[in-house]
Amino acid sequence: MGKYAVLSDSSEEHIVEKSAEDFGAHWARLGDKTIVWTATEEWVEFTSKAGQAGISPEHAESHELEGRLYLVIQTGREFQNMYPDARIVLEKGRYLVADLLPEEASRLAESKEDWWTVRPLAMGSVIMDIARPEAQPVLPGLKASVAAVSQTTYSTYMSLLVDFQTRHSFSSQFISAALWAANQFQNFGYQVGQQPVNIRSDSSANVVADRPGRGSENRKLLLITAHLDSINVRGGRDVPAPGADDNASGAAGVLEIARVLAEYPSKHDLRFILFGGEEQGLYGSKQYVSSLSKNECDRICAVINMDMVATLNTESPAVLLEGAPISRALMKELAQAAATYTSLIVQTSESPFNSDHVPFIDKLIPAVLTIEGTDSSNSNIHTVNDTLDHIDYGLALEIIRMNLAAASKLLEIEDL
Ligand SMILES: [Zn+2]
Repeated sequence: MGKYAVLSDSSEEHIVEKSAEDFGAHWARLGDKTIVWTATEEWVEFTSKAGQAGISPEHAESHELEGRLYLVIQTGREFQNMYPDARIVLEKGRYLVADLLPEEASRLAESKEDWWTVRPLAMGSVIMDIARPEAQPVLPGLKASVAAVSQTTYSTYMSLLVDFQTRHSFSSQFISAALWAANQFQNFGYQVGQQPVNIRSDSSANVVADRPGRGSENRKLLLITAHLDSINVRGGRDVPAPGADDNASGAAGVLEIARVLAEYPSKHDLRFILFGGEEQGLYGSKQYVSSLSKNECDRICAVINMDMVATLNTESPAVLLEGAPISRALMKELAQAAATYTSLIVQTSESPFNSDHVPFIDKLIPAVLTIEGTDSSNSNIHTVNDTLDHIDYGLALEIIRMNLAAASKLLEIEDL
């Protein structure tokens, strides 16, 4: 048996964690909250020692654990929708800490749902961090490209995508949406192709748009991606699935970045991909990654993925950069772009889960998911309520500006 308390620790010194370590407690951090726990018989000693040191967990409400602490990562609010009675100890939108009996946890882990995962909460782990990136000197070329981002065109793309009754991967409307997007890329001047995606006995497609760089040698390849498909989990492939946030917001973002970058030739190669089959289990991105040659894998310097960028789940506009150790340099680049060209608060995580960045990371390609910040969860996604009414264009445009600035720099656009 154990006891725990949830403490606020937004200081850069992480005082709560240090005192927990010094006085024999375990901790894990999710953003500005730190959870500390010990065996029940050690709690009194821990709190009195920590209290003497000026940290006051005795003032925080402490609780008895019924089982053990587990980390849940969910898409939207899918875990809580499915298990409304689960004992949630700490809630940070995409990330939850749950108090589960080991047999409950293994039953949940074995159910292999696509939209959430349950893992033991590791001691001394930072599940989600608040980054404090330093603004860099403003580069005129980047400033100009960022200034070209337009709410008018972005919201037009969003509306057109949401107007398809569904973009379910297997639907005829998905094919229409993919054709429409391919036409947009073509009009911007990119070379466009479609890659078939096989999903069990059904099929979908990825839309791929390319622009070779102007560099004469050692050209790298930068990918900007989003999934085009939508889903309504309460029905089949024919029920309405507007998918405004998930993921018209990201797909329209890819198109908006493509529209702007069309005017900015670059040294390195640029590729946009709109994936199909994401909602069925990342089929489009998995099949795309497995189609890459070793040489192409090695050339990819960055994959910037956008999945749900337009719902405000935090008090102030925030972005979550979700990557892995392989993507640390890219996360830093994005965080600095956010600090220099936007007013976004930057959250980071190295627990990648369930979007199209994961197959790239699995192949040790530096990929990052850029997603709306996550203090509360988005309960509309995967339902008929994921509509334009809930969209925050200001947040989406800021995330697009961050991604565009980082991409422009990595691509080495001319006239930086
Ligand atoms: Zn999504």
